[in-house]
Amino acid sequence: MSSHPYEPDLNTYRTLLESTKAIPWRIDWQTMTFSYMGPQIEEVLGWEQGSWKGIDDWVSRMHPDDQAWVVDFCVSQSQSGVDHEADYRALTSDGEYVWIRDVVHVVRREDGEVEALVGFMFDITERKQNEQELERLRKELEVLSFQDGLTELGNRRLFDQVLAREWGDARRKHTCLSLILVDVDHFKQYNDHYGHLAGDDCLKAIAAELQKAAVRPRDMVARFGGEEFAIILPETDAAAARVVAERCRAGIESAAIAHSAVPGDKPKQVTISLGVNTCLPSACSDINEFLDATDRQMYAAKRQGRNQVACADAIQAT
Ligand code: GH3
Ligand code: MG
Ligand code: MG
Repeated sequence: MSSHPYEPDLNTYRTLLESTKAIPWRIDWQTMTFSYMGPQIEEVLGWEQGSWKGIDDWVSRMHPDDQAWVVDFCVSQSQSGVDHEADYRALTSDGEYVWIRDVVHVVRREDGEVEALVGFMFDITERKQNEQELERLRKELEVLSFQDGLTELGNRRLFDQVLAREWGDARRKHTCLSLILVDVDHFKQYNDHYGHLAGDDCLKAIAAELQKAAVRPRDMVARFGGEEFAIILPETDAAAARVVAERCRAGIESAAIAHSAVPGDKPKQVTISLGVNTCLPSACSDINEFLDATDRQMYAAKRQGRNQVACADAIQAT
């Protein structure tokens, strides 16, 4: 049990070290010079084995954004005698970068002083690229989960979040929050007459028009449901909201999308009805009540003949 059965000679050690994919190295702590660098470095980074002389050769062949934190981290870990590892981008002789994971072991003398650092560099470029691709896909998925697939507007989920956020903001800052709900007139007949795919194209065209009408950076147009849209207008009073709603209505009218199945003697084109509502959330008790009241305005616009804007304040005044 006392002695282990293998006694490899120096050549065996060398062959083992230099036939691995990982690149072995050793740096002397006192002089900060490399006392060993595996020949594999040439294949991975392109720099000659003998060109790794001192710590500066390591630092200067690192991505500028990685240099400071990697050196700080490795020096402080080494000073406290802690084995560690760091991922960084190493410069190749072609001017490219390779992701390296450097795994470092601190060698101490018998008196406890640090004598040297030894380690292996692993080429983890492929793994990093996979991680970055995963991260990109995750972000894309996040965007998609808040986006309506047909119109590319924000979806109902995003609308609910933004409305709640703006509601809170308006409450804190004591500013007006306005909301417009939009419903396409006689859209069932449009689908019945032109087909569902043409109906989809029509919704896309309407979405683009509404987006044009809501011009301030924090204005938010969303697809609220089937053929209904919603526009959140932060820091916007009733008069300004009415102007935006009227701009939406007029925009759809001048887009002149043919709708020959409009009943009665109305113009044979696509129109929208809009309900507008404004509140100062500190005085307004409930966000759902605000939404319901806006919806009632939209239905009022329908009742009053469609292709028009109904505003809560106008109703209250009468
Ligand atoms: P009103 O003027 O009273 O609003 O009448 P309307 O026909 O628009 O109202 P209704 O709610 O009866 O019909 C809405 C129609 O919108 C029914 C539904 O098939 C259609 N619709 C909802 N979502 C979509 C969609 O994504 N694509 C298409 N093509 N049609 C849709
Ligand atoms: Mg509807
Ligand atoms: Mg409708």
